[in-house]
Amino acid sequence: MAQQEDLFKKVVSHCKEYGFVFPSSEIYDGLGAVYDYGQLGSELKNNIKRYWWEAMTLLQENVVGIDSAIFMHPTIWKASGHVDAFNDPLIDNKDSKKRYRADVLIEDHLAKIDDKIAKEIAKAAKRFGESFDEAQFRATNARVLEYQAKRDALHSRFAQALNEGNLDELRQIILDNEIVCPISGTRNWTEVRQFNLMFSTEMGSTADGAMKVYLRPETAQGIFVNYLNVQKTGRMKIPFGIAQIGKAFRNEIVARQFIFRMREFEQMELQFFVRPGEELRWFDYWKQLRLRWHLALGLGKQKYRYHDHEKLAHYANAATDIEFEMPFGFKEVEGIHSRTDFDLKRHEEFSGKKLQYFDPELGESYVPYVVETSIGVDRMFLSLMCGAYDEEALEGGDSRVVLHLPAALAPIKLAVLPLVRKDGLDEQARQIYNDLRFDFNCAIDEKDSIGKRYRRQDAIGTPYCITVDHQTLEDGTVTLRHRDTMQQERIAIDALSSTISAAVSMKTLLKKI
Ligand code: ATP
Repeated sequence: MAQQEDLFKKVVSHCKEYGFVFPSSEIYDGLGAVYDYGQLGSELKNNIKRYWWEAMTLLQENVVGIDSAIFMHPTIWKASGHVDAFNDPLIDNKDSKKRYRADVLIEDHLAKIDDKIAKEIAKAAKRFGESFDEAQFRATNARVLEYQAKRDALHSRFAQALNEGNLDELRQIILDNEIVCPISGTRNWTEVRQFNLMFSTEMGSTADGAMKVYLRPETAQGIFVNYLNVQKTGRMKIPFGIAQIGKAFRNEIVARQFIFRMREFEQMELQFFVRPGEELRWFDYWKQLRLRWHLALGLGKQKYRYHDHEKLAHYANAATDIEFEMPFGFKEVEGIHSRTDFDLKRHEEFSGKKLQYFDPELGESYVPYVVETSIGVDRMFLSLMCGAYDEEALEGGDSRVVLHLPAALAPIKLAVLPLVRKDGLDEQARQIYNDLRFDFNCAIDEKDSIGKRYRRQDAIGTPYCITVDHQTLEDGTVTLRHRDTMQQERIAIDALSSTISAAVSMKTLLKKI
């Protein structure tokens, strides 16, 4: 655990040190839970978005993309339920004056019990060695059974309180379980209150007053209200999908864990419109396909898991999260929901416009059902950084920090390094750089020893370095160094473009899905 916390701290400072992520407004001491992406971070982020966008719009014959505005008619958020119900239960500790989400305090407490169970299992596994049977141990060990019973009771009490929106009960659960404030260590809690997460502002400045508008808390509603525009102008036939990438804003109560929970963030969402009755089949399709998209990145299968929702929102008939193992535990990176016809029906009701689709095969009209996939760009970014970060011990007592980023997503694909800055090696390097920069993102680095330059490129995840040396001038070859294996090979300058293009291309990654 300590090691994992350590890893998280290292990733956060690595992001800053190498120009991936900076706190927003840093010279003014920052702005809570708002971050800026630096010179390398914005490249990585753009590549993540491109990977998603192309997987959706190029590889899916019946998915198209849009880019809707952040501001939308305020009634949209009435219809979607966000004005009335996009709330989090908040609670303050009177001693530390710190604010928490009551549900998160309880979830953290549940996770602590899970940790205790995991520890017992790990201890026993070590003791029994090969003959250890985990299922049997779970079913029979008194201590594990006690923890499990406690956990189950707390979980069902918690789920019921959430379902009923019972704020007093949430508070009582916190008190009964003796949950303390991590800062003050006390149980001096206020009442639990609902807090709406939408930011609002005013639009227009007419004499009759301005209109209150919201900064969208999700991009999905921009798709719902455009679905007929796209269907008609694009002559789309159900089933079809609309994809969108864009900013979303939530006034999160507790902003922590770096870019995991931000107040301004970016989402990549797909709404897939299907015939009523076929939604669960499509839900399953998207559930499988989205996990394959993650797995293709090669960070390791064991880092992902599904978390199927037992408690469903009233409009959903199936929901699952794809979780990634962050240094602070398995956490949601993407949600996949079967949302029925809830949103479109509500928009029909509130706008007074018909949002039906005429199905030529069935010869009838209906409001389509929707399967949604929704992933945060920033959480995806964080999962990549955590999964890719590695400190490796090298021969001779040396070590290196390396980011094993998938080549297609790495900010820089190739660094061109002249061995020395003389004898014409620097000019030759520049010529190679000038030729290759049309193919992919290249860097040229002439300063410091070659070893230091390799380390710098390893630390930012550059998959290839080439070294231009004296032999290059004689036979037109360079040394090609592979980031992950550190192996070097001799390769002709003429072969660089095609060899590296193939290895770093988005196409290569997309084909792995
Ligand atoms: P959480 O329970 O963690 O608040 P959520 O269930 O509210 O997340 P959704 O509304 O399903 O999240 O949003 C879809 C995706 O958008 C999430 O899986 C996540 O990747 C991303 N996301 C949501 N809120 C934030 C945030 N505050 N900062 C960064 N990403 C976010």
